[in-house]
Amino acid sequence: MNLLVPLVLAARAQDYRFPGADEHYGAYYPTAYYDEGGRDWACGDIYYGGHRGSDYGAGSWAGMDEGRNVVAAAEGTVVATNDGEYDRCTSADCGEANYVILEHANGRRTWYWHLKQWSVAVSPGQWVSCGQHLGQVGSSGNSTGPHLHFEVREPGNYAGDPFDGPCSAPPTYWIDQGAYGGLPGPSCPYSGPCNQVATLSCGQTISSANNAGGATQTHGVYGCGSGPWSGPEIAYAFTTPVAENVTLGLTGLGGDVDMFVLNTNTCDGSGAVTCSTNPDANEEWLAFDAAAGGVYTIVLDGWVGTVSGFNLTAYCTGGGSPGGEDTSTPTEDTATPTDTGVSTDTTWEPTDDAAAALPGEATPVLEAGGCGCGGDDAPDVASPGDGPPGRRVPIDQVGCGGGTGAFAGGLFVAGWRRRRRRVNRP
Ligand SMILES: [Zn+2]
Repeated sequence: MNLLVPLVLAARAQDYRFPGADEHYGAYYPTAYYDEGGRDWACGDIYYGGHRGSDYGAGSWAGMDEGRNVVAAAEGTVVATNDGEYDRCTSADCGEANYVILEHANGRRTWYWHLKQWSVAVSPGQWVSCGQHLGQVGSSGNSTGPHLHFEVREPGNYAGDPFDGPCSAPPTYWIDQGAYGGLPGPSCPYSGPCNQVATLSCGQTISSANNAGGATQTHGVYGCGSGPWSGPEIAYAFTTPVAENVTLGLTGLGGDVDMFVLNTNTCDGSGAVTCSTNPDANEEWLAFDAAAGGVYTIVLDGWVGTVSGFNLTAYCTGGGSPGGEDTSTPTEDTATPTDTGVSTDTTWEPTDDAAAALPGEATPVLEAGGCGCGGDDAPDVASPGDGPPGRRVPIDQVGCGGGTGAFAGGLFVAGWRRRRRRVNRP
C-alpha cells in the first residue's frame, strides 16, 4: 500500500457493503439516490423528490428474470419480511412489496425492497452475516421496473442517507462508498481473529518469511483506523509485563511492506494504535507505548506477489516513564454513531417517512427513460410493526439521472443534510 494513513479513528458506526451479490456486482448501477432536498448526496441530480433510499438497477426485466441476488449490507437480525406479492409492477401502485428488513447492532435498520416474488430467503428472527443472500431483485410494490431499493433507517425509524458528500453530512455508512454514479464496494468488514502465529517480546527478533505460515485476512478498507487488511498478512502477538516504549522494526522484505499495531486480538480495526505504511518501502518502523500486561497484535502486510524473508524486532526502552505516556492516538472511537449524520430536527415526524400507500391515493408516476433501469419506484411502504402507516409521498419525477420535474402535489420531503421539513406546495 502506498498511502500514509492519518491516525484518525473514525467512528465505526456501521460498515455496509454494497447490497448486490458479488456474482452480480457488475450488473448493478445506481438509478436514484436519496433526496437531499432537491439534490443527491453529491449535489447532483441522480434522485427524485422524496426518495429516501438508494435505487440500483440490475439489467431491467431481463436481469430480473436471469436473477440478481441481493445480500445483507451488514450483519444483523431479520426483523421483517414479506413475500408472495406480484413482482412485475410497472405502475408504482401494486400494493405491498416483497422485502426484507434487517436490524443492526446500533439499532439502525436496512431495508431491501421490491424483491422478486418468492425470492425472499430469510425469516424474521434469523441472524444474517454481512453478504448473506436475502432475495432477488424484482419490481414488487410501488415500483415501475426491476431494481433494488436500499434504505437506511436510523433508530427512531427515519430514513438516512448512507453517503457522505458535499450535500450529505458524514459519516458514510459504506465501507467504501465508491465514486459518484458508481457502486459502493462489495467487501464486508473483517472481524475475525488475527491468527497470531507467534509472540514477540521486547528485545526479540523474529526472522521468518512471508511464505511460511500466516493467514489471509481481507478487509475492504486499508487504514489504521478502519481495518488494515487488504490481502495476505501475518499477525504476531506482542506482550510486555511492564510498560514499555516500543519501537518495532520490520526489515528485509523484498517488496513493499506495511505494519500495524492493534490493542485487540481481532481484526476489525477497532483497536488500531498506530501503523506505518510508507509507500514502496521494504522496511517500516513505528513506535508505540505498550501498557503493562497489554495485549497487542502486530500485523505485517503488503507482500502480494513477493516471496521473501523478513525480520521483525521489538526494541524497548524506558518503560513506564512519565514521558512515555501515550501521545499518539486515542484507542477509543472519538465519535459515536449518533454524533454525526443524524437529524436533530425533532419536529419532523417519522411516520410521514414511513409513507405507506393509502388505498386510492395513487399518484402519477412518470416512466423513466433512457437509463436502462426499466423504471423506478415510488417510495416505500411502511414496514410491519413500525407504527402506523403514514402518507405516501407522491412522486414528482423519476430518477435515473433525470432533472427536477414538476411537483405533483401533496407532501414533499425536503431538507438539507438530513434536516427535513414538510413543505406543502400547491
Ligand atoms: Zn427507491
